[in-house]
Amino acid sequence: MVKVFKEQKILTNEDERWMREALREAKAGYREGETPVGAVVIHEGRIIGRGHNQTERLQDATAHAEMIAITAAQAALKSWRLLGCTLYVTVEPCFMCAGAALLSRIPRIVYGTRDPKFGGVSSLYRIGQDPRLNHTFEITEGLLTEEAAALMRSFFKKRRQDSLKGNLKKQEEN
Ligand SMILES: [Zn+2]
Repeated sequence: MVKVFKEQKILTNEDERWMREALREAKAGYREGETPVGAVVIHEGRIIGRGHNQTERLQDATAHAEMIAITAAQAALKSWRLLGCTLYVTVEPCFMCAGAALLSRIPRIVYGTRDPKFGGVSSLYRIGQDPRLNHTFEITEGLLTEEAAALMRSFFKKRRQDSLKGNLKKQEEN
């Protein structure tokens, strides 16, 4: 299911191509034991920023995939304004990342699966669609949703199993 706000922009092969790159980042995060979210920023048909979550490795709650990709893109363009750029991210951006996208004037965000717990552009908040703010962005959701969601499910299942194992081990030791 694809919902398009504002402009009636249809998903293209390009969109899928870039979302596959974001998924590649998410998988890299998965292998590193990070929440598997990946993001790329595209400008004029090429990747100018990419990233996956590094919250655990850096012990930094702001080290989300989108923040890393946005910072890299700004460095590449030597500008904090990411005009003409599209952010592709496997999971709906949280309110922090949605705020960062807004502040950097990104005109379009494409994401895979919703995040009912932290989602900042559709689920909990609609940052980017708020007429009180001085910038809005177009949102396209539902691209490669199943791949993105399956990675997340697998990650959280494994984490639960690991924590169960840890508890059992503790019980045995006592
Ligand atoms: Zn975030």
